Amino acid sequence: MGGLDDLYKEIILDHYRSPRGEGEIAEATVSVDQNNPMCGDEIHLALKIEDDRLVEVAHTGHGCSISRASASMMSELTPGTTVDEALDLVEHFRLVMHSETDPDGERLKDAVALEGVQKFPARIKCALLGWMALKDALQTHRDGGQQ
Ligand code: ZN
Repeated sequence: MGGLDDLYKEIILDHYRSPRGEGEIAEATVSVDQNNPMCGDEIHLALKIEDDRLVEVAHTGHGCSISRASASMMSELTPGTTVDEALDLVEHFRLVMHSETDPDGERLKDAVALEGVQKFPARIKCALLGWMALKDALQTHRDGGQQ
C-alpha cells in the first residue's frame, strides 16, 4: 500500500489524533447522521445556527483517519460562516476532491492537505463524508426540517 503513505501527512495525523470540533451540542439547531459503507466511516454532525450563521459545529463518529481528519478540518473552518458561505465551501472542497478545480488554500487551510486523496478514488468518499454531512444538515435546516 506504499502510495497510501503519502496521504498520511503530518497535518492529517494531527487532526486525526486531536480532532477539532469533536463532541455534541446540547441544543443543536439541526443534526444528521451519514456513513460511508465502502469504508465503514460514520459521522454524527450537529450544528447550531443563529441568524443564518453557523455558531457551533460538532461531530462524533468513527472511521479511517482520512474521514476523521477531514471532519475535524471541516469543523475548524466552518464556525462563523453563513449558511451560504458554508455551502460554497463544501462545493469547493467537493470539486477539489474530484479534481475539477484547484484548491484555494486561503479557504481550505488545513484541508488542502487532503488534496492528495483525489489520487485514490476509493478514499474520496472518506474525505467527503463530513462535508456531505454538513451539506445535508444545512439543506435540512434550509428546508425547515428539524430532527
Ligand atoms: Zn474511510
